[in-house]
Amino acid sequence: MSYSDYGDNDPIYGDDLADEDRESRPRLMLMGLRRSGKSSIQRVVFHKMSPTETLFLESTSKINKDNIHSFIDFQVWDFPGQMDFFDPTFDTTAIFGEVGALVFVIDSQDDYMDALVRLHSTVVAAYRVNPNITFEVFIHKVDGLSEDYKIDTQRDIQQTTTDELADAGLENVQLAFYLTSIYDHSIFEAFSKVIQKLIPQLPTLENLLNILCANSGIEKAFLFDVISKIYIATDSSPVDSQSYEICSDMIDVIIDISSIYGRAAIGAKSQAYLEDQQDAHDDWTNVQDDHKNSNGASNGQRGGANDNQSQTVVSTSSRAGSLNNQPTATQNGSNHEAFSVIKLGNGTVLYLREVNKYLALICLLRAETFEKQGLIDYNVHCFKEAMDQVFELKRAERTRREMEAHRMMEQQQRHNGMYGHG
Ligand code: GDP
Repeated sequence: MSYSDYGDNDPIYGDDLADEDRESRPRLMLMGLRRSGKSSIQRVVFHKMSPTETLFLESTSKINKDNIHSFIDFQVWDFPGQMDFFDPTFDTTAIFGEVGALVFVIDSQDDYMDALVRLHSTVVAAYRVNPNITFEVFIHKVDGLSEDYKIDTQRDIQQTTTDELADAGLENVQLAFYLTSIYDHSIFEAFSKVIQKLIPQLPTLENLLNILCANSGIEKAFLFDVISKIYIATDSSPVDSQSYEICSDMIDVIIDISSIYGRAAIGAKSQAYLEDQQDAHDDWTNVQDDHKNSNGASNGQRGGANDNQSQTVVSTSSRAGSLNNQPTATQNGSNHEAFSVIKLGNGTVLYLREVNKYLALICLLRAETFEKQGLIDYNVHCFKEAMDQVFELKRAERTRREMEAHRMMEQQQRHNGMYGHG
């Protein structure tokens, strides 16, 4: 599958997921009043829409389940005024029962009192059904606010909401607040933090990344969900926004190069899709081999972190090890691992490696350290194996629980049968 497929409004990416895979993914619900920015967030984060294009989006006026599935299962629910949680026909159990995180979007550029009333009733209703939900409040569209006003708004919203919940006897409910905008990286960073809370294996992943960094001389490593550019884990050194931004921009660069030189872009989109279906392990940067070294690529559209780094050298390949014949191509018997290297003018190297069909590892390291690419590749290979084991264990545990439940049910049926005949 090529990255260019992700931009479609009619995504195909998740349709081939097994149900069991879906179950293990964090499930997220996006709520808020009309025009608060939900569809825009959904389009920008999950459909690679440019923020300015959202100006022409029609407001969502009904419950809209987005079929995008990546590492995260994602649903958007718009709650227009007429929907009432206290209406007995409204099945709150079905709605909130399986949700991991509820993200409530508030338009900070508007009068937000109505939104706070709706937030309160939503939290009360959802908490009653599912106390394990994590509640996240996006104070959104802050690009239009001055720094002082941002802080005042956050303080006001936070204070009012927690006071009201305390009055309702729900002082234990924890809400997290984020200042977000689709016009910068804040929306992706906020989502990253939301998602990380839903991943039970997070401490293990962090530990693995720490080991990888320590043994390879890597300065910072992010594990990205490629479609959404959300990072689901990073090593425990502090995250500075610039590192995150530059790694996130790298994904854009790869997507852009892939959409220019990838198979889908040269008129064989449907053919590429068929091939993708045949080969579930196909990588997501099918850059043609003869284009694998392209120089001077631009480094993201949003500028910021990397404006002053004039020279960049980009190398991308759909085959691990094909850049300089490192042994990774054969380490796991597969030659389908995508990787990409960007050398910045300031001596920093960005190194991207495909981990699986949803996730990519992006490392920041010094050019001198990258001379030992063989060692780094070997360590990345070990990291991937360890990750597979972590997720495999979880799958095995779920199968064991299901078998146990099945056995209990059979026993119960046998017991009922004997009792009936006696
Ligand atoms: P929905 O009804 O909640 O789905 O709202 P929409 O996604 O349709 O957004 C309503 C309007 O808000 C659109 O014109 C968007 O362009 C705008 N919008 C969304 N996010 C932002 C943001 O972060 N900053 C600004 N300034 N406008 C935004």
